[in-house]
Parts: sequence; structure tokens; C-alpha cells
Amino acid sequence: MPELPEVESLRRILVRTAVGRRIASARIGEKELRRRKTADFAAAVRDRRIESISRRAKYLIIGFDGPDALLIHLGMSGSLTHRRDGFSAEMLDPRHDHVAFELDDGTRLVFNDPRRFGIVRLVARDQLADLTELRTLGPEPLSRDFDAEYLAQKARGKKLAIKNLLMDQRIVAGIGNIYASEILFRAGVRPTRRSGRVRRDEIERIVAATPEILRAAISSRGTTFRSYLDSRGEPGRFASRLRVYGREGEPCYTCSTPIRNVVVGQRASFYCPTCQK
Ligand SMILES: [Zn+2]
Repeated sequence: MPELPEVESLRRILVRTAVGRRIASARIGEKELRRRKTADFAAAVRDRRIESISRRAKYLIIGFDGPDALLIHLGMSGSLTHRRDGFSAEMLDPRHDHVAFELDDGTRLVFNDPRRFGIVRLVARDQLADLTELRTLGPEPLSRDFDAEYLAQKARGKKLAIKNLLMDQRIVAGIGNIYASEILFRAGVRPTRRSGRVRRDEIERIVAATPEILRAAISSRGTTFRSYLDSRGEPGRFASRLRVYGREGEPCYTCSTPIRNVVVGQRASFYCPTCQK
């Protein structure tokens, strides 16, 4: 499932390739997305210029030169690709193209989602902050609001495993299973530790590790296991730099102890029993 680094990588490429383009026409697919009906907004976005592409947590927000914006979430398996002549991505089955925008330079911006857990929603720009999806989100992990004082306060007294605290979008936005695992490895803290029992120096290490991991992942354009592709239809390259995630039984790069996998909150959680206390 795409997390902050994948969405941010996508955004950075689209800012260069799609901002300034006008939408010539839009086509909405026949099959509905699961989480929210994609109303037929084709008429509303015709002739609109794409003015900005921003991100909040795992949401991409495409701002138009009018009162509207498009809120996009990739869900489990979504991709937003910017296709020009010669574009080919074999894993993108055209039957799962849910929304396709023809742009004024002859390129196409296509939202494809085989499992249909994604969201594509036309919203009023001045109401973005009040949307159910965005209203409850915690601070961005790459912002100054996410500091040790803040995390220590959120962790205080909680029995919840520290990994689940990091994955709770109301606590900090945009981190999922892959990056929570990697952040905790770098910080030397086991994913199963009760949040309330994590010491202050450990909280500080977690907060310091967070931007290091996320920025490294963004510069590798994210992690692809199965479905994630960037806007050019290319996979992210961070998978080869993961230290624990997906490496059960393989030797830790630091100490050679086999990496373990425990289930925390119904999610696989990878850690090194020697490096993480
Ligand atoms: Zn180790």
C-alpha cells in the first residue's frame, strides 16, 4: 500500500509534468470505486487548468483554476500515471482505468486501481480542511510539528504498541507498515513495545529516524512490492534499501541475527531481536 514517500514521489514528478496543463476532457470508468462513488465530474473539470499539486498524508490534491480540487488516494493498489505516446506499463490493465483526463498537450493522466480501494473525489477547495478524510489527520512527519515533545505526549500512558502508534494517522500522517518498521529499526526500538513504556531517549531516536527514512525513500521514489508505480509507470527503488521489512529469516545487515516477524495489530511486523530493544 502506498505510503507518504510513494505519494510524495508521485507528486514531485507530476508538478513538473502536469501543472499548467488544461484538461481537454475527462472520462469516468463504469466500475465504481469501493469507498466512495465517483460522481461523474467530467463536465465540471473540462477546460480547467491544473494549478497546483499538493499532498497531505497519503492524499494527493490537484488544484484547478476554479473553486474545485481533486482529492486522490491510491488505496491498496491505485496508480496515477501521466501517459504520453509510447507509455507502457504491463501491470496496468486498462479495464481498471477509473478516471482518465485528456490534457491539452495530448498526454493523459490516468487513475488505475484493480482493487478499487482508492478515492477520486471532486471537492471545493475552500472546504478541504473540513473534509472527513483530512480533518482528523495528525501532523506531517516531515514538519516541525512532529517533534519528540509531541510524540512523547501522545505515547504517554498508552498500551498500544509503538508501531501502531506511528501508523495511527491521527497521531502522525502518512506512515504505514513499511516505513514504521524501518523507522523503528533505525531507532533501535522493538515494534511491540507499549507506547507508554518507550523511554524519552528512544522517542527522540524515533523522531530523528522518521525524516531520515522518509526522505531516503522519497529520493528512491518509494518502494514497490506489487502494484505501486510512479507517474511515469516506473517502480520505486527503495525495496533494496529496506533493512527489516519483508526480510524475515534473513540476516540483519548490522549484526547478522535473523530478522523476525511478529504480528502486531494484525499486521506483519519485522524487527531485529538484537538491534531493537
Ligand atoms: Zn541486528
